[in-house]
Formats: sequence, structure tokens, C-alpha cells
Amino acid sequence: MIFSQVPQAPADPILGLTDAFKKDTRSEKVNLGVGIYKDEAGQTPVLKSVKKAEAILLEAEKTKNYLGIEGVEQYNAVVQTLLFGQGSDIINDKRAFTAQAPGGTGSLRVAAEFLVRNTESKTLWVSNPTWANHQNIFQTAGLSIKEYGYYKAETHDMDFDAMITDLQSAQAGDLILLHGCCHNPTGIDLDAAQWEIVGQLCADKELVPLFDFAYQGFGAGIEEDAQGLRIVAAKVPELLIANSFSKNFGLYNERIGAVTIVAADEDAAQKSFSQIKKTIRATYSNPPAHGGLIVSTILSDDSLRQEWESELTEMRQRIAEMRTLFVETLKSEGVDQDFSFISRQNGMFSFSGLNKDQVNRLKDEFAVYIVGSGRISVAGMTKQNIPVICKAIAQVI
Ligand code: PLP
Repeated sequence: MIFSQVPQAPADPILGLTDAFKKDTRSEKVNLGVGIYKDEAGQTPVLKSVKKAEAILLEAEKTKNYLGIEGVEQYNAVVQTLLFGQGSDIINDKRAFTAQAPGGTGSLRVAAEFLVRNTESKTLWVSNPTWANHQNIFQTAGLSIKEYGYYKAETHDMDFDAMITDLQSAQAGDLILLHGCCHNPTGIDLDAAQWEIVGQLCADKELVPLFDFAYQGFGAGIEEDAQGLRIVAAKVPELLIANSFSKNFGLYNERIGAVTIVAADEDAAQKSFSQIKKTIRATYSNPPAHGGLIVSTILSDDSLRQEWESELTEMRQRIAEMRTLFVETLKSEGVDQDFSFISRQNGMFSFSGLNKDQVNRLKDEFAVYIVGSGRISVAGMTKQNIPVICKAIAQVI
């Protein structure tokens, strides 16, 4: 017998919270754990542009034949345009190759497997804090993890000096994980001048950036959010990008993302890409079609693209509105502590500064679920649940 020896794995810190939430029978319960966008009615509906693309695809579909290892061909071109911008030198010089992959997570894992098997780079630096699944993904693939400073708890702000000081001690060939925008969990992003410094540091010290780009369009806009990636990509010869369309197209369960490699020239990029394809072949052979077809259909059609952009703008603006309302409601509930930093943060999440004890009390006494680190998914707030959340927070601090 071999299976009786296997120990129980710990519950995933975020998905485990959703399981506990589902079992909670209290009627006013609120889940601000997992990063899922909710509309004002508390729903996560399919985007209208996605529904229209699916109708087109259903009509046009003639076969369920396998895709190539790299996925839908047209998809990979539209992804590169989103990442690097129309007319980018990287695209024109054919230094980038893209493979469709299952979500941001699958893309990160393919990138990590490729790196471990084909390069000397075995150390990856991640921000402290970072998305809870990062260490899990990269360590499972065989990379060793080091942390760079990112967040100053006292000011609820960026600790850029710590970031630079820590990255100064990285060795040539080390990998640096950077959140393209809407840093998870802090919601604090680098500004253009800081991206320039980080890009130059990577170039000078021969560090290889790995961008995790899961929230394009949730910060300031589609083009604006790609600013950091584009600044860094213009300075370094080599980088990797793992992007996801789970959030910005609401395609969570379609598992759609992409891994993109940029090398110094077309020949090196093509050779590395052949190894990425080998990794994919050994992992899931080739990706599922539906998500890639949806995204490429929308991005290749002017009117669908416009509709998607306005739906994305609506999501972004609603979250910004919830940030302001949350801060105001905390004040009106008598909370003296300054939470104004929440309205300056980007994307779905806020790092609230609430401690473990307070987080546990919110769950146990008030059925308000947030992650143990104090990360709150603002995208799960609505005008209806904000008073419930703020009253509860007022009781625990
Ligand atoms: N990277 C970050 C920073 C995320 O927050 C997430 C999802 O929450 C992902 C990657 C993974 O996205 P996906 O659901 O597409 O695998």
C-alpha cells in the first residue's frame, strides 16, 4: 500500500477560505477573500462582448480538432499587441514568441518549468508580500525563492529603497518576479520613474524579469497598465511574461492566459520557444481552445473590442468607487484610524493593515471573510455590503 502513507495537505489559504464561506449559514455573510469581480448586484456575470463572441464561435465552429502546442495562432499575435503595444520594436524584430496557456497560473508554471530545465537560473526573487500561490508554483517547479522588500506597514506604502537594496544583492542570471500592475496583495504599484530604475538595475546586473501580468486594464487602463512592462522590456535583452485573461475578460473558469518569451534576437527567441513548446507537450500537450478563441475573436473585431473595453472600464470604475465609499463609510462608522491609503491603491485588492486576530474576529463574529494577511478584495464590495463590512471592522479595531 502506498496511498495510506500520504499525509493530508494543508488547505489553500485563499480557496480554503471560500470553502469555509460556502459552509457558513449566516445570511449577511460577505466573501472578500478570493479575487473575483462582482457587479453592483453581487454577481459575476459573463461579459456581453464574451457572449457575443461565443455566439459567433458556436455558429462558425466546424471541428474539435486539436490546436497546435502554442494554441490559437491569431490569439498569440493579439496578446503580443496588448503586452507591447501596436508597432512595438520587440514585435517587429520578432524577438517575442507566445504560447497560449491555461490561465495566469498555468503560464507561470510553464515559464518556471522552462527556466529550471533549460537555463542556469535557479533563483527567483519575489516581492514581500506577494500573491499566496507564487511560492507554491515556483518551488514546485524547482526554483529557489528569495524575497525583496516592497511594502512598508507603517506608511501603508511602497518601500522602494528596500526593493532596490535587496535587488542589489541579486546575482547575474537571477530571475525577478514583477507584478505588471495592480500588485497582489498590496494594490501598490511602481510609478514610471521607479520602473525605469528597476529596468536599468536588471539591465546592469543582468537580472531576468519575469512579469506576472494578471490585471491589465484594472489599474488605470489597458495601455497605461502596460507601462512598467514596456519600460523594462525596452532596457533588457531577455524577459518572460505570464499574463492572464481571467479577470479582465471575466474568463475565470476558461483558464486562459499566455506565456511570452523575449530574447536578444529572433534566433535565440525561437530556440527558447521550442523548449517552451516541449515543456507544454510534456505537461498538457496543447491548450483548450475556447478561451483563446473568445479573446482573439474580441480583440480582432473593432466593435467587440470597443464593447469589451467599455465593460472593462466599467469594472475598473466600479472598484474605484467602492474604494472611496469604503473609506468614507469607515469614517462615518466612527473609525478614527486613517484608511485613506485604500483609495490610492490599484486593482482588485487592498492591504488593509488588519491583523490576524482582527481578521479572525471578522470571520467568526461577523461572517466577513478576508485573507489572513489582511488583504481585502475590494472587487467583492457593493453598496449593499459595505455598511455590513464597515460596521464589523469598526467593532474589531
Ligand atoms: N497572478 C496573480 C498576481 C494573481 O492574482 C492571479 C489570480 O488571482 C494569478 C496570477 C492567476 O490567474 P489565473 O486565475 O488566470 O490562473
